[in-house]
Amino acid sequence: MTVCYCGSAKDFENCCSLIHSASLSASSAEILMRARYSAFVVGDVSFLYNTFHPSTRRYQSKQDIKNWSTQNKWLKLEIINSTQNTVEFRASYKDQANVQHVHHEKSNFKELQGQWYYIDGRLIQ
Ligand SMILES: [Zn+2]
Repeated sequence: MTVCYCGSAKDFENCCSLIHSASLSASSAEILMRARYSAFVVGDVSFLYNTFHPSTRRYQSKQDIKNWSTQNKWLKLEIINSTQNTVEFRASYKDQANVQHVHHEKSNFKELQGQWYYIDGRLIQ
């Protein structure tokens, strides 16, 4: 058992893994955000690609997602604030040179036929 990467204190198998395998759909923007972070940790490129909203998915490249996921070492996720359609978070990671960074973003999400999708995000400096 692994404590889930998203910081929920549940086991990964009973948390984001269920959403990655589509046994459970993300019932809110924040749950999808957490599952997307965990997908970066475990390198689930398909999940990351498929949870882009159809309106922005065509601009994404699976190779870019894969590189961003695997070239960084993901340390932790902190949810700063979430509303129905937005999540502000900080994701800490180390890059290939072992330099630590914090990715601080406010993301937009949209529900489509009972599924939540990531649209885009704005970096907060
Ligand atoms: Zn989780």
